[in-house]
Amino acid sequence: MALISDILFQHLPSEIISTEKQDLENYGRDWTQYYHPNPSAILFPRNIKEVQQIVLLANEYKFSVVPSGGRTGLSGGAVAKKKEVVLSLEKMNKIISFHEADQILHVEAGVITETIQNFAKEKNLLYPVDFASKGSSQIGGNIATNAGGIHVVKYGLTRDWVLGLKVITGKGEILDLNKGLIKNATGYDFRHLFIGSEGTLGIIVEASLKLTRSPKNKKVILFGIPDMEKVVSVMNAFRKELDFLAFEFFSDNTVDYVMEHTQVKTPLPKRYPFYIILEFESDEGKNTEIVFSLYQKLYQKEWILDDAFAKDETSIKHLWGYRENISVSISSCVPYKNDLSVRISNISNFLKDVDEIVKSNYPRFIVLWYGHIADGNLHLNILKPEELSISDFETACKKINPFIFEMVKKYEGSISAEHGVGLLKKEYLQYSKSEEEINYMKQIKKIFDPNGILNPGKLLDVI
Ligand SMILES: Cc1cc2nc3c(=O)[nH]c(=O)nc-3n(C[C@H](O)[C@H](O)[C@H](O)COP(=O)(O)OP(=O)(O)OC[C@H]3O[C@@H](n4cnc5c(N)ncnc54)[C@H](O)[C@@H]3O)c2cc1C
Repeated sequence: MALISDILFQHLPSEIISTEKQDLENYGRDWTQYYHPNPSAILFPRNIKEVQQIVLLANEYKFSVVPSGGRTGLSGGAVAKKKEVVLSLEKMNKIISFHEADQILHVEAGVITETIQNFAKEKNLLYPVDFASKGSSQIGGNIATNAGGIHVVKYGLTRDWVLGLKVITGKGEILDLNKGLIKNATGYDFRHLFIGSEGTLGIIVEASLKLTRSPKNKKVILFGIPDMEKVVSVMNAFRKELDFLAFEFFSDNTVDYVMEHTQVKTPLPKRYPFYIILEFESDEGKNTEIVFSLYQKLYQKEWILDDAFAKDETSIKHLWGYRENISVSISSCVPYKNDLSVRISNISNFLKDVDEIVKSNYPRFIVLWYGHIADGNLHLNILKPEELSISDFETACKKINPFIFEMVKKYEGSISAEHGVGLLKKEYLQYSKSEEEINYMKQIKKIFDPNGILNPGKLLDVI
């Protein structure tokens, strides 16, 4: 049987193919550090026609294709460890058009998230989906994972900003979905199936994105908080009075890593067990008054112990740094990540129950808490002790997973709030999806990708 690389060189322009060792290493992995990259080749198509040609070829010769964006994924979705062909969207990185009247931006899938944010800014508008990996992640990857981030509480997920999608299905057909319409009541909206499908149904090649008004006069305040319960109480108090832009939390031990990695001082003169970052639009000072009056009350109750207030861009960036730099600051400790969510009404009890499991089961490990608490989304990160090998550490973490995920199930939550399932959470899907749902997912996969060439083994196994 011919080698996959021979087939590729026979049928595709050689300038879009790489079998260089360095490329196989780089493009065969994402941000997870648990898998060894082992792809056959990396392809860099330059246009839709070439993407389609690759997919048709994969169907003909039965090789597997891993769609690849910025490779910032945290669930192994873009990992190629079984001789797959990686299809990188990196060369398809053009902003195609901007329609002023519609406020719609039409882009190729390989455009970097931050480029989209900056383009919107130049037009005095906002693309509000925002997170720490925006400088590397691609819009196609964001759509394939339905990425969230720090502004979901105000603006929603990536899904809420996609008005049109062009995809090449696993069969090799081109679908042009929804075409930028706000209203379109014509039955099944396949656009939403491809959003969050983790490259298992089709390859996203273009997207139409909605932009919006930029908030004026943004302010950020950081609070020191005595315990996890008060984090939730403070959030509930602010939710009643303020329509905020972001409400994030992190535990004190995250600060040590950020301080070491980015060479900053402590966020407040004294250390506190937890911190909150609250971002809001000042609205001619009205919201600032609300925030300060509530702050006084909560300070007297000792729910808030100290604060730092940022009014200008530099100090806002500085305060956000304590939250946004956590992931990058801990990455050398090979964190085992759980990205959990429950309904807001359950968050307080869920936190208590999961904390108990963590304390009794991980006495030897450093456990960090942070996340998008106002979305009911917690990032639980367990750090690898230096003396443990990666595989022993993974095995130890996996032993505890069933206890944590049983708790997620009890609270009707999700085992993956925003990072996706990929390889890392595949075996736990049944904690968040019923057997019937998983069966329908498999049938849908078979419709769009009957030969199972797209990202096999990710999200679910279809036999
Ligand atoms: C420091 C850091 C902070 C992060 N913070 C957040 C956060 O706050 N919120 C959040 O949601 N995520 C966060 N992430 C995770 C990650 O950035 C997102 O999941 C992002 O959307 C992945 O985009 P990507 O282009 O890097 O995709 P990749 O990692 O390349 O791929 C992710 C998945 O999408 C598929 N895919 C990629 N491109 C396409 C395409 N064009 N068509 C079809 N399938 C495709 C891949 O096969 C894979 O399954 C963070 C990651 C890091 C490293």
